[in-house]
Amino acid sequence: MESNTTALPHAEGAAADEAAAAPARRRAAGAGPFPARGPAGGELLDDVEETAPSAVGELVARARVAQGAWAEVPVRERAEVIAKVKKRLLARAEEIAALLHLECGKPIEEAALAEVLPNADLIDYWTLSVEELLDASPVDLDPLAYPGKVGRIQRAPRGVVALITPWNYPVAIPLRTIVPALLAGNTVVFKPSEVTPRAGALVASLFEGLLPDGVLAVAQGGSDVGAALIEAGVDLVVFTGSVATGKKIAVACAERLVPTSLELGGKDSAIVLGDCDLERAARGVVWGAFTNAGQNCASIERVYVERAIADRFIERVVALTGQLRAGVDVGVMTTARQAHIVRRQLATAVEGGAEILAGGAPEQGSLAFPPTVVRVEREDTPLLREETFGPILPVLVVNDAEEAVARTNASRFALTTSLWTRGRERAHALARRLRSGVVTINNHGFTGALPAAPWTGTGDSGSGVTSSPHALAELTRPRFILEDRSRAKSELWWYPYTPALRTIAFAMARVRGGAGWFGRVSALAELAAAFAKRLLGR
Ligand code: NAD
Repeated sequence: MESNTTALPHAEGAAADEAAAAPARRRAAGAGPFPARGPAGGELLDDVEETAPSAVGELVARARVAQGAWAEVPVRERAEVIAKVKKRLLARAEEIAALLHLECGKPIEEAALAEVLPNADLIDYWTLSVEELLDASPVDLDPLAYPGKVGRIQRAPRGVVALITPWNYPVAIPLRTIVPALLAGNTVVFKPSEVTPRAGALVASLFEGLLPDGVLAVAQGGSDVGAALIEAGVDLVVFTGSVATGKKIAVACAERLVPTSLELGGKDSAIVLGDCDLERAARGVVWGAFTNAGQNCASIERVYVERAIADRFIERVVALTGQLRAGVDVGVMTTARQAHIVRRQLATAVEGGAEILAGGAPEQGSLAFPPTVVRVEREDTPLLREETFGPILPVLVVNDAEEAVARTNASRFALTTSLWTRGRERAHALARRLRSGVVTINNHGFTGALPAAPWTGTGDSGSGVTSSPHALAELTRPRFILEDRSRAKSELWWYPYTPALRTIAFAMARVRGGAGWFGRVSALAELAAAFAKRLLGR
């Protein structure tokens, strides 16, 4: 295995620094999938050891060996072990935020609020509820039809879970699966994004020394390492990332009949109605669009505002956007590749008649993309059709809520939608008609931080579920256990098949609704006679 790091395209001026860097870092820079510097430039980041794709099979094999014993550990003990991670996480809050600032360009406050504190809630939620959630549930069985039989549904672990994650929330997203997956008795092989390998290593370090060997492993690298992980014979792939990669993973998993959970892109809309609290709506929309520099699957990437308040709302949004401080409220974008996509989408929209009201593209090559508000009339532009994943807020004026709902639902993405209105009943009625997996009324996007709330979508947003008992249903499979306490030597439906059994079968069909009341009464008489014969073996 070799350690490799590579410089981001914008950091070309780094050659001189590199000459002065430690020999190991110099040797590593320029090869492999890992950026050598964070998006804001600055010092070389720590080296990361890349996992050779050929070594991934061994990680999965070790995870498989470890899984049997881990699943045998009583769930309460597993919960006691995982609960210790919370203290470590909170004690390292500043270190985690600092690393995310360096590796992703996030403002420190945003890193702490989005990627540290909610994870403490996450660990509390799962460690306190998992025992009850995994508890086998009894199944009602008709004692006349199934005498002496008792059924229970257990939740069995899937086995070895492959977890492949993106770079935009590189601590929170992995933990949202690692914690419940391990608690459910799975082992996990985790492949962090190649853009944020140090955050990935940090996540794993939170569990260091707590788990038996092989229960949680990290495979560091790019797409080849992710592909090798799927080929290595895992039992479930949990993927969060782009639609394009999600489709590749779905195909690779389908060929191996491996179940998948896919959390993909978004094109979230905010629907701002004439009766909203305008100040709250404007502030909420600005945060929902620009938090994490818009690199959020649930970023507001379309606003549909009712004509009656459009001018006032847009004016306020533009004013609030103008107050955002570069590097304080809004960080730099994380990758040059994504900044290029955002720049291209914005340019195409402007060529098509869109009007920039605040911000605008920075100089070529800069990752400091200003928060940008753009008024758009036409939807047939990539800025409205494709995921943007950057700090652009397109605003469209609509006639009414009907038009806003129709336009929202017309997208191939359907992750989250927010409705801004004082009309609660109306909001709930509109919410029922939205395709997205999460609808927030007078708020946006933050529910990913709620461990008890399902985070899910449909269409090109994927259909995986993170958080809540619904996520646990993906991380486990039902196992039905039936115990027969009957002392009878035989069952009605066992051999031999006799004329009496045939009579019973058809008479029962009549008794259970296949005939009118007269037919049922005569069927009951037939049944009594046939049962008597059956008891005699005829
Ligand atoms: P990406 O698809 O480029 O990469 C995601 C991960 O997949 C990385 O670890 C990458 O190395 C790996 N990968 C790439 N090709 C692979 C292959 N062929 N086989 C296996 N693994 C492979 O996504 P990204 O750019 O890191 O993340 C941004 C995307 O993630 C956006 O589209 C965003 O909307 C989405 N996202 C979705 C959610 C959600 O909850 N729905 C949350 C966060 C991010």
